Amino acid sequence: MTHHYDLLLIGAGHAHLGVLRRWAMVERPPGRIALLSAGPVAWYSGMLPGLLAGRHNADDCQVELQALCRAAKVELIISPVEGLSAAQQQVQLGDGRTLEASWLSLNVGAQISAPPQQGDAMQLLAVKPFAEFLNQWQHCQAKPTPLAILGGGAAGVELALALAGKVPQLALFSAGHLLDGLSAGVRLRALGHLRQRGVDVREDCPVSRIEDDRLISGNEPVWRGPRLLLASGANAFAWPQHSGLGCDERGFVLIAPTLQSYTHPTLFAVGDCASLPGARKSGVYAVRQGPILAANLNAVLRGLPLKRYRPQPQSLALLATGDGGALMDWHGYSAGGRLFGRWKDYLDRGFIQRHRM
Ligand SMILES: Cc1cc2nc3c(=O)[nH]c(=O)nc-3n(C[C@H](O)[C@H](O)[C@H](O)COP(=O)(O)OP(=O)(O)OC[C@H]3O[C@@H](n4cnc5c(N)ncnc54)[C@H](O)[C@@H]3O)c2cc1C
Repeated sequence: MTHHYDLLLIGAGHAHLGVLRRWAMVERPPGRIALLSAGPVAWYSGMLPGLLAGRHNADDCQVELQALCRAAKVELIISPVEGLSAAQQQVQLGDGRTLEASWLSLNVGAQISAPPQQGDAMQLLAVKPFAEFLNQWQHCQAKPTPLAILGGGAAGVELALALAGKVPQLALFSAGHLLDGLSAGVRLRALGHLRQRGVDVREDCPVSRIEDDRLISGNEPVWRGPRLLLASGANAFAWPQHSGLGCDERGFVLIAPTLQSYTHPTLFAVGDCASLPGARKSGVYAVRQGPILAANLNAVLRGLPLKRYRPQPQSLALLATGDGGALMDWHGYSAGGRLFGRWKDYLDRGFIQRHRM
């Protein structure tokens, strides 16, 4: 049996949390609406490094979805989405149910991929999905071992600074320069912090495969150890690519400035799973899409004109340094210290508070 909805929100990503918050505060659009979520809470990635560093507890970093959905008068369905047919507007759930809807909105983020692995001597931990990673990490803490982190972006750097001193040896691998895309100043500050904390930083060292307990770059073994943490960028999930939706060459859903799929305008896509020129894959951009998405979902359900989203050309980056401080990058300027750490905490805690009902 197929259940029909007017609107299905797929994934409790940053933008959908913003949509639900708005509907909890002002009248929501008419019709039968549900949120499909893989789990009962939404984790906030910005606070994960602080959680690992022991500066936050798990409760600080998550939004409980049942309360938010109740306040927004939206049904919550907890089951991972496993398939989508864009032509039929149907969604297949992990629990075997099929749902269909007049309108769909996709905010499922992205996944982390691993280099090809031969043998199982090295344990691989992917930082996403967060719930799974935190569970695995708890077990790892019982027996700390040397660790390598793959990914020289903001997430990899923050994770390395959070875990420095918590494992016997820590190495950070970056395919190119560390923090590519941010200012030279913030890269130098990050390198200083990492070296001071004993992290072995390997820049311009792309890891091409894993052979037993060794990481291989080109044909050279570059590290040997029992555990690897994957934090290397955003990769598209397979199921939206097999849905019939038009996707870019990396598999992300191509959208117009109204946030609608180019090929299937009855589907909206936002955040890391979507592809729009100028919109970067980061929580900041996903959050900014929330108000436009809320307005446009309201518009299509009420027959009103749509708004256009314009990505901001620059965004503020605040990277936690694991010791209560943070590094700031803004328009090519960099700075760092405790004051920026307090600012980051204030912004992060504010995000969680805004979505708690
Ligand atoms: C350690 C770390 C720190 C980071 N820090 C920052 C930061 O400080 N600032 C910043 O801007 N960015 C940061 N990022 C990047 C940021 O996490 C992502 O860019 C951002 O989360 C993307 O938001 P989103 O709304 O697209 O998706 P997400 O926040 O990833 O949310 C996607 C949601 O969809 C759900 N989902 C996934 N698959 C399914 C499915 N099949 N069925 C149902 N639900 C599903 C997930 O469970 C999740 O709730 C960080 C990333 C990491 C890994």
